[in-house]
This record gives sequence, structure tokens and C-alpha cells, in this order.
Amino acid sequence: MTSLATPVTVADNPARALVCRGCGAEYPLAAQHACHQCFGPLEIGYHTDRLAAVTREQIEAGPQNIWRYAALLPAGQDPASRVTLNPGMTPLIRADPLARELGMKALWVKDDSANPTHSFKDRVVSVALTAAKGLGFTRYACASTGNLANSVAAHAARSGAPSMVFIPYDLERGKVITTAVYGGDVVAIEGSYDDVNRLCQELTETDEFEQTAFVNVNVRPFYAEGSKTLGYEVAEQLGWRIPEQVVIPMASGELLTKIDRGFGELAETGLVEAAPCKVFGAQSSGCAPIATALHNGADEIVPVKPTGIAKSLNIGSPAAGPYALESVKRTGGWMEHVDDEEIREGIRLLARTTGVFAETAGGVVVATLRKLLEAGKLDPEAETVIYNTGEGLKTLDAVAGAGPTHEIKPSLRAAKTAGLLA
Ligand SMILES: *Cc1c(COP(=O)(O)O)cnc(C)c1O
Ligand SMILES: [Zn+2]
Repeated sequence: MTSLATPVTVADNPARALVCRGCGAEYPLAAQHACHQCFGPLEIGYHTDRLAAVTREQIEAGPQNIWRYAALLPAGQDPASRVTLNPGMTPLIRADPLARELGMKALWVKDDSANPTHSFKDRVVSVALTAAKGLGFTRYACASTGNLANSVAAHAARSGAPSMVFIPYDLERGKVITTAVYGGDVVAIEGSYDDVNRLCQELTETDEFEQTAFVNVNVRPFYAEGSKTLGYEVAEQLGWRIPEQVVIPMASGELLTKIDRGFGELAETGLVEAAPCKVFGAQSSGCAPIATALHNGADEIVPVKPTGIAKSLNIGSPAAGPYALESVKRTGGWMEHVDDEEIREGIRLLARTTGVFAETAGGVVVATLRKLLEAGKLDPEAETVIYNTGEGLKTLDAVAGAGPTHEIKPSLRAAKTAGLLA
């Protein structure tokens, strides 16, 4: 464990302690992610009275980014303390043409590709690095499937701190270029994400990395909280209402777990009326350990060796998998997985009907939505929000076959010959 254990001491921080999800043991707010007693994952425990005191008016008066929810987050209450690109308040798009095509009544796309580095990871990185800076760390790092590395490198650049991000060697070129351009260290590992993650865990134990915050390793409890803003925002954008159904992509399963938790907290604090929301999880068939466990009725998640084009979701050993299973079962949702051809078709369907060009993870979500409807698992009459978490320009190869529909000489005659004119 790290020796940097200075507790966060901002007076109006609603966070109280690190709490073990396994045994309930509590620890001071510091860079620690696993319980010393049962090795369970730690998460942030809050002063519930401080959360309950937060009002809609207070949030609505805040900035047009995630920090409008600062009173519900474990870091960043003081704007000067933030390490951030100010992500969030991304569009919630009413998707009527897509709904019609799928036979649905009311469908929205939460387009989180509209963040500074074009994925939802800017949310988690802003919270994690703000906490990390408060804890005294001087260098920022992560184990990444692509988007996280991109976001950490950009946040570090903005804040003037060095970064070192670790990625599998076989990531999409678009993900590597958009990360390397910020000038930090980019370390490609000959192995899978799960190998990268294991190495990063080991590095946190070394003296050389004592001052380095790995956003999804040693400060993971703070990182995870950033995902809740994707629940808060959707509820606020719907007019302070929780949707009836949501479809969320899963890699580690953390995002799904925390959106569900975000909805729950809004109800507990009285910011929205309590209402049931069925949570649905989406995976790629090349890496579907969580969906497979659900389908097999198993509580244990069997790790897999990831394959397939949805590389941002390729985590074979998903840390929050059991909690994602719990969320989906408790809310009456379901999970499905879709193959590469379905993912490509999902990207094209979303683009054609909404004007949103998603990365492969978004294709996974749209294809999963379709599959859930076909299987009768998702109610076409219920208000549904699907999450697009990343940008299509970073995974261009997925739709590389696309090109001009016509190619003609610059003359009216040629336009006519091509059928553009009568
Ligand atoms: C990281 C990522 C996810 C999933 O995140 P988890 O919290 O690990 O489940 C989903 N979509 C995109 C585009 C991502 O980069
Ligand atoms: Zn424990």
C-alpha cells in the first residue's frame, strides 16, 4: 500500500470514509482501494446528512459540467483544487427516428462522446485526479483500454503534471494517437488489459511510483464516483426524473454499478421521487464474462481472454462484475452480448437515425438494445435511455468499408448519368 495517507480534509466535502463493500470495514479517505481485512473493494462512504441537504436549485446554479454535482462528490468542492477539463452536461438526445425503427415509444441517447477527450472517462478522471492532487500525488497514471489513457494524458497536460499511461499493445491507432499527442509517457504492454492492470498494481507497490496516482488502481474509490454523474445528469435533463429503463456498456462493470447507485442516491436525498429503473448491461461477445455469468445463473464471474473489435470494453476479469450482476438482478433488468458484425450494424444504425457517430462501445449498446427488444426483455413502451460512452472517430476501422455513395466527374451530364438528376 502507498505511504501517502493524508486524509482529504476539505470542510464541505461530503465524503466521510472509505468503506469495504465486502465486510463494511472503514478506513480514512486515502489512496487505498482494497480492504486489509477481506481484500474486498473500497468505496466512498458519505455524511448522509450533507447529501440530504443538497437542493436542485443549488445544483442548477452550478457550472455546465460535472462540478454542478460537487456537493455529491468526494473531491473538488473548491474550484481551485480541481484537476479537470470540465467534462459533463453532454446532450441527452431524444431519438424518435431510432425509436420508430425499433418499435419503441420513448428513447433517448445520452451522448457522452461530447466530452473534452470524447468519452465518459473524463468524468472519472476529473474526480480521481482532483482527489489525487489533494492527497499529494505528483504524477498521474492508469491502466487503460484506450479512453482512460487518453483522458489521463489530457488532464495531466492541462494541469502541468507528468503522466504515464499503460495500454495493451494492440489498441486502435486512433486511441494511441489521441493519447500520445499530449506528450506524456505512453507504455504499450505486450499483453491484455488484465496483464496491464496487474502490472500497474505491482508498480503502485514500488518506491519509484510512490508519488504516482493510478486513477483506476490506488485511487479507484474516487475514480468510480465520477461515473455517478452520468446518472445525475440524465435525471436532471429529464426534468428531475429517473428513466424507467437504461442500457449501459460494461467493461469492468463499474459504470453500470455507479449509474444505478447515482439514481438511488438522488431518490434517497429527495432530489427526485423514488421510481424503479431497470438496468440493462451490454457487452461484446468477444468479452462477455458478466453477461455470461447472468445467463448461466452463476454468482462467480469466470475470467475470459478478450477478442473482438470493442476494445474499450475488453476487460476479461471485471473488478465490478459481481456488483453489476447485483444491480441488474435487483432492478429486474438483463444483460446481452453482441458480436462484431452486430456492433458494426449498431454503429451505423445509431449514426443513420440520430446523427451520433459512436465508437464500438456505442455500437455494442445499440445492438444490445435491439437484442433485448427482440428477446422481450426490454419493454418497448417504457421510457428508455441508452448510453453512448465514446466517439466513432477513435475507432474508424470498425466502419472502414464506408465511402462515397457516388463518384462522378464535375458535370451535370455525369450527375445525370449517375442518377442524381432526372
Ligand atoms: C471504459 C469504458 C466503458 C466501461 O467502463 P467500466 O466502468 O469499466 O464498465 C464503456 N464505454 C467506453 C467507451 C469506455 O471507454
Ligand atoms: Zn473488507
